[in-house]
Amino acid sequence: MPVGAGKVHFMKIGILAFQGAFLEHQLILEKLDVDAIQVRNSAQLQDLDGLIIPGGESTTLGKLAMDFHMLEDLQAYGSQYPVWGTCAGAIFLSKNADRKQPLLNLMDIKIIRNAFGRQVDSFETDLDVPVLKTVDPNEHPFHAIFIRAPIIESVAENVEKLASLSDGRLVAARQNRWLATVFHPELTTDDRFHRYFLEIVKSK
Ligand code: GLN
Repeated sequence: MPVGAGKVHFMKIGILAFQGAFLEHQLILEKLDVDAIQVRNSAQLQDLDGLIIPGGESTTLGKLAMDFHMLEDLQAYGSQYPVWGTCAGAIFLSKNADRKQPLLNLMDIKIIRNAFGRQVDSFETDLDVPVLKTVDPNEHPFHAIFIRAPIIESVAENVEKLASLSDGRLVAARQNRWLATVFHPELTTDDRFHRYFLEIVKSK
């Protein structure tokens, strides 16, 4: 049975809740009948099947992870379990954000922050995301909201490219258990990316 088509109480997903759009992720997961908890300390990571790192400000995420002594625990968690980073969360998940700031240093992508400049730092567009047909065979574009978004400038060979803008710039990618989207699926009512992440969690 596809995730979301029934009860999936066996899954417990954490959302890093230092700052940013964590509640929106939680509400979507709860609609999918997933046990979703807000994570603010390392002990809470223990029995999670997967973790979402929301958008916000990646330097703040990094600073708070250091202040709360969670950086290493988050790295250790992510080296074993599925993690999905949205926007600032994708930056935090990466190995390279093109400038010095605390990162989880997990996903083999190079990301450029605030790639769309100030004039157009927020915009919405429809994306073709072929991989979403694994959770919904009825293929249709994903309406993506970009807020001071980064782009994924380059990826290692074993990183799967999931979605690009019409000019070719990469905005969603997966490397095994890690998922990065530089836009905000949690700010829409389309839950396909959440269900796709839950499928990754189920497969691990
Ligand atoms: N501009 C932010 C950063 O560089 C990300 C913005 C977002 O998460 N919406 O961290």
